[in-house]
Amino acid sequence: MDDPTVHSALGKSIAQVYTIEFQKRGLPHVHNLIDLRAADKFSTSDHIDKLVRAEIPSSIENLRLHENVTKCLMHGTCGSDNPGAPCMEAGQCKKTFLKEFRTETTMNVSVYPLYHRCPSDTTFVRGREMDNRFVVPYSPYLPLKYNAHINVEVCNLSECGVIYL
Ligand SMILES: [Zn+2]
Repeated sequence: MDDPTVHSALGKSIAQVYTIEFQKRGLPHVHNLIDLRAADKFSTSDHIDKLVRAEIPSSIENLRLHENVTKCLMHGTCGSDNPGAPCMEAGQCKKTFLKEFRTETTMNVSVYPLYHRCPSDTTFVRGREMDNRFVVPYSPYLPLKYNAHINVEVCNLSECGVIYL
């Protein structure tokens, strides 16, 4: 997990903690918490928008990234459309999808930022029309490099400015 490419894509890491889950099916799953040096901490919405996105990329501008996001980074149908989805607990999505459309990213001191999500982009995923409310936040560099599901969240808990992969 000490991949210098990841760190240079997001900022310089000064500390990290990770766990690897060996699930019964599929590939191992990693949760990685990275503490960035002070100069790289996410202190503004503009900084977040440069490195973390929660929108379907244009297939014209970057077909490969568009295909990766629509294949690997769309939250599945849940809520009243699929109350039996694995993310559902007591009638609510544990990951709070669907997210709301937002005209700009706003910092959220208590938890994760509220990411910019334009209402205009839609695509068909597994036969269902989906929009930016379904997108799991990601850093564009990482899916292009690894072609995998890599969720990135800016985390400001305790103002430590860390990223959660
Ligand atoms: Zn859900």
